[in-house]
Amino acid sequence: MLLDYTSLLIAIGFSAICLSIILLGTWSTARADKYLLICSIAAGFIVCDVFLYSLYLSNPHYSLATIAFAHLLTGLSILYGAAFYFRLGGSPRGRILIGMASLPIALTPLAMGYDGAGFMLVNLSAAALLALTAFEYWQTRAEAPGAIAGMCGLYLFVGTSFAACALVLAFDGRLVLDGPPANWAEDFNVLSVIAGVPGIGAMTLALNQTRLARAHKREAMTDSLSGLLNRRALFDMIGTEPLADDITVVLFDIDHFKSINDTHGHATGDRVIALFAQVLRESLSEGQQAARIGGEEFVLVRPHRTLDLALLQTEQVRLRFAAQVLYQEGFTSTTSAGIGIGTRGMLFDQAFSQADTALYRAKREGRDRTVVAALGAGSGVITLPSSRPSRR
Ligand code: GH3
Ligand code: MG
Ligand code: MG
Repeated sequence: MLLDYTSLLIAIGFSAICLSIILLGTWSTARADKYLLICSIAAGFIVCDVFLYSLYLSNPHYSLATIAFAHLLTGLSILYGAAFYFRLGGSPRGRILIGMASLPIALTPLAMGYDGAGFMLVNLSAAALLALTAFEYWQTRAEAPGAIAGMCGLYLFVGTSFAACALVLAFDGRLVLDGPPANWAEDFNVLSVIAGVPGIGAMTLALNQTRLARAHKREAMTDSLSGLLNRRALFDMIGTEPLADDITVVLFDIDHFKSINDTHGHATGDRVIALFAQVLRESLSEGQQAARIGGEEFVLVRPHRTLDLALLQTEQVRLRFAAQVLYQEGFTSTTSAGIGIGTRGMLFDQAFSQADTALYRAKREGRDRTVVAALGAGSGVITLPSSRPSRR
């Protein structure tokens, strides 16, 4: 080799220290996300392994190798836990414990002086842990296919180098070695770790950033009180192009909402808004969108122009909402709705203003009803009977 093995190991150690500090620093700016913290702790263990192993090389006693590899396998087990946390957000403890089960298996022969068998089992365990980690990430590939495939590739590449070390020792067949193993697989291993540590570090940070950006986008699109899309998100989603298909737009407005605030307080008003959103959300089926577009105003966008089904859904929402408010808050609250039809080639704004005109008419005609603006100039309006539930 051009550079001696110990210098390369020390270079890996310093590179892993930097990585651990960067991960820790990034985590400190967004502490709710523990993923980077777990990765940073794992990198810390790997740093200890590298420096302890360098010590072992200058003083090759199997007890030093045992301590070094205990750190390596612990670090890799924590990385496995971090990958699980990345995938499901649950506690990484279970995966870490599974990984750490490799410690007694691999380290007992080493601690007893059978360094040939011990080194082989340590390398095999490291390869298995890296493959399991890659598998955890692979299951999240839908989130960022390119980056996750790259991450899995790096873990598998480093894992393969550990597997190669194990294979060379297995073919060698000696239970006790006459010093630290030195062969092509060890060189391949150290080079793959040099490539792997910064590569995996960069991927870890990039994936975390992608996820954060997605969460921020979702937050910006969501109305915090109702959990539905907000006005901007709905209009952005539908766009300003002419409609590619027919749609039905239903606008809902809670009646006399101001007096709910005035009589029962703002907090109760908030609960009523959240209740309406819940009822509306529960009514949704595939392809439908719902948004809160104002204080107590909501919109439902249905694909197709199946008016009878739109009316059915609208009435169900109004009735269920009235019943739920009565049941949960003890007072009566009703809703008015206006339905507009958007035909292919029309602008969404036109369908929306049809629904708005129909809603205005529902309010004017006494509230607590649904009005349908028929196709064309807003003629053919249907007014439905009251949905006011009676209190038992
Ligand atoms: P109408 O039957 O004509 O719709 O009358 P309204 O009282 O429901 O309508 P108006 O537009 O006069 O009042 C809406 C009220 O909704 C005024 C505003 O203070 C209240 N509001 C808007 N956003 C919120 C909110 O997030 N929480 C609460 N509690 N009230 C809100
Ligand atoms: Mg209103
Ligand atoms: Mg209102």
